[in-house]
Amino acid sequence: MHDTRPWLDFSYEELTIELCKDGVKPVHAKALWRALHGQGLRDLKNCDSFLPPLQKWISDKTEQGWFVDDPEVVQETHSSDGLTRKYLLRLRDGQTIETVLMGYDGRHTVCVSTQVGCAMGCVFCATGQAGFTRQLRTGEILAQVLHVQRVLRKDGKRDLRNLVLMGMGEPLHNYDAVMKALATLADKRGCSLSRHRMTISTVGLVPAIHRMAAEKCPYNLAVSLHGSNESARAALIPVAKKWPLDQLIEACRVYDRSIGKSIFIEWTLIAGKNDTDEVAYELAALLKGINVHINLIPLNPTQGFSGHASGHHDAIRFQKILRAAGYPCTFRQRRGIDVGAGCGQLREVVKNRATGKAELREPRNPLKGIAIEP
Ligand code: SAH
Ligand code: SF4
Repeated sequence: MHDTRPWLDFSYEELTIELCKDGVKPVHAKALWRALHGQGLRDLKNCDSFLPPLQKWISDKTEQGWFVDDPEVVQETHSSDGLTRKYLLRLRDGQTIETVLMGYDGRHTVCVSTQVGCAMGCVFCATGQAGFTRQLRTGEILAQVLHVQRVLRKDGKRDLRNLVLMGMGEPLHNYDAVMKALATLADKRGCSLSRHRMTISTVGLVPAIHRMAAEKCPYNLAVSLHGSNESARAALIPVAKKWPLDQLIEACRVYDRSIGKSIFIEWTLIAGKNDTDEVAYELAALLKGINVHINLIPLNPTQGFSGHASGHHDAIRFQKILRAAGYPCTFRQRRGIDVGAGCGQLREVVKNRATGKAELREPRNPLKGIAIEP
């Protein structure tokens, strides 16, 4: 029977069960897990460090069609300062996703996609404009991290510190696959990334935020708010009608109480729409009593949205009002990043008519990009 299974989709416990099913000692799971998640091996068949029973088992499974997710790099774009690298990765079914590696002060952050496309339809977001194609599996989420770790290792670096789910897609709309991937990344026997350095960015899926709070998931939570009242928010985020603002704010309160960490509020600044003094005061009032850090993101222009990024002075004024109200408030913009690093503009991926190949469209952001760092 042909039974194709992705190795990276398994949890440690599931791998152990698979070994047992075939009469192989469960102790072998450790070496296999280390090879997959610690060393990021893509070809398990020729791994000399495996003991013969494990080697034989892997060889049988490979014959059956079990595979390691290993997306092909379709395109790689570097910022001129070399600090940001953006990868367009092709999955087994031909779909493409984007992963971004950012390095500052000797530390690296990876920005990962969780879906092909997105169903939430935010009007200013290229991913939302293009709609939803499919969920990513756990292994496809992990493969992005393993890819950048291989890149870093090649450069003699081992300092991947932060992970942000701010790429293509809405992570909480793919809850189980995402949580399984994060748990795998945190596993000390493999990748061993700190859960405290992982950030889940959501457009505000209220039931999922409550679930995270109840499950005491210790991740950083970033909530993309963009509007300070119901109608302003719904104009930018259609899905906001489903989960009204008061419910979202309440969910943030619950998360804050349950996890006890600052929530990042993501605010994409759009000229004349959500960057005025009135909006800043309304936002300050809305967030009262919640432990938040506000991140202001300059709007990156996209084909399907006619809005413009806020001017420098308006953006600074907006920030000042929030700071005066007592909120930590920073810009996500960093110098020298010119690869269109705004995750969420992932549909800058275009098809080259001549070659038929997917390509990254050149960035058009006059503000020279965004760095995403919790
Ligand atoms: N779906 C999740 C995570 C992916 S989007 C979310 O919405 O939070 C990551 C961030 O990029 C979000 O804060 C989103 O609002 C922002 N973003 C999307 N399109 C953008 C654009 N054109 N300019 C600036 N920020 C954008
Ligand atoms: Fe989806 Fe986030 Fe883009 Fe909204 S901003 S469409 S939730 S990826």
